[in-house]
Amino acid sequence: MTAAIDPVAFAQALIRRPSVTPADAGAMDVLQRQLEQLGFACRRMKYGEIENLYARRGTASPNLCFAGHTDVVPVGDAAAWSQDPFEAPVVNGVLIGRGAVDMKSAIAAFVAAVSRSPAPDGSISFLITGDEEGVALDGTKKVVEALIAEGEPVDHCVVGEPTSATAFGDMIKVGRRGSINAWITVEGVQGHVAYPHRSANPIPVLVNLLAKLQARVLDDGYQDFQPSNLEVTTIDVGNPATNVIPATARARLNIRFNPNHTGASLTEWLQAECAAAGEGFNGRIVLEPLVSGEAFLTEPGPFIDVAAGAFEDVTGHPPERSTSGGTSDARFIRSLCPVVEMGLVGTTMHQIDERAPTAEIEALTKVYERLIARYFAAFS
Ligand SMILES: [Zn+2]
Repeated sequence: MTAAIDPVAFAQALIRRPSVTPADAGAMDVLQRQLEQLGFACRRMKYGEIENLYARRGTASPNLCFAGHTDVVPVGDAAAWSQDPFEAPVVNGVLIGRGAVDMKSAIAAFVAAVSRSPAPDGSISFLITGDEEGVALDGTKKVVEALIAEGEPVDHCVVGEPTSATAFGDMIKVGRRGSINAWITVEGVQGHVAYPHRSANPIPVLVNLLAKLQARVLDDGYQDFQPSNLEVTTIDVGNPATNVIPATARARLNIRFNPNHTGASLTEWLQAECAAAGEGFNGRIVLEPLVSGEAFLTEPGPFIDVAAGAFEDVTGHPPERSTSGGTSDARFIRSLCPVVEMGLVGTTMHQIDERAPTAEIEALTKVYERLIARYFAAFS
């Protein structure tokens, strides 16, 4: 066992690399050097301009993987921060900086937990990407595809996203809803408002179509999931004239869906509704769907119990097992192995003065230590 790592100091070292997606700014090198010192075999997997890292220590089964991202969102109005977002000072026991919550501190906590743990009867690995906050095309998705193609055995994965809702350790994520965006363009025929028979107004067609889509109750929920919901996010016509029927009307919508649906089944439904709305209309309706993630649920069982138990060992309270919130890279990892997400309190992520109490970074390190101990006791 090498010298124990201080998770707060290591989080600071990572935050001081301004790795705003897609920039890496040396963050992955900082992590790789530390993991190599701990005896990990590191593989850089670069796709496009994105740095990714898969690191593993040990060759035996089971292989417990920690997944996360070194990239961060932009700082926004830098002048509004009370500290330089990439200086990462500790002020009154609170670490302030971009990535303090989402999620460089969690990476640091897991590295520190490994450094403090006896070598387990099995393997520990890291799957770290520099493209989680961006379009996420050259990140975890590609690494997972490569690991599956190689037959790399990964038995279970823990993602260090900030899952705690309001108090440290109050929530872990055992699933996520899926997400689909769809652009709908109705192309009609432009004309004078006084002569509607010579034109085809796309607006009523679009409005009626959106009303019909919005009216469907998608479901009443699914096991631990809230009901699926469809939200129209914009309607654009951009017609400056009062006497012109416009040629085109566009809208965009987003559906967050539970495992009652798939991206394909919802796409099919949208296509059918668009076709029906276009009947008798002297124009056409174009649908462009984009599925950004399928819904998934890691079924209750020993792995979820290990994760929840690790939090309870440190906080004294069992965390809620939730499927709420947006998407994360867990949506890609689910095709590799069962996945659970557990980390810091997420309230300041993506905000000005993103921050985490150092006591909670230290507590998360203890949680991950307990996770490693419980995991190999249960699965070795
Ligand atoms: Zn994140």
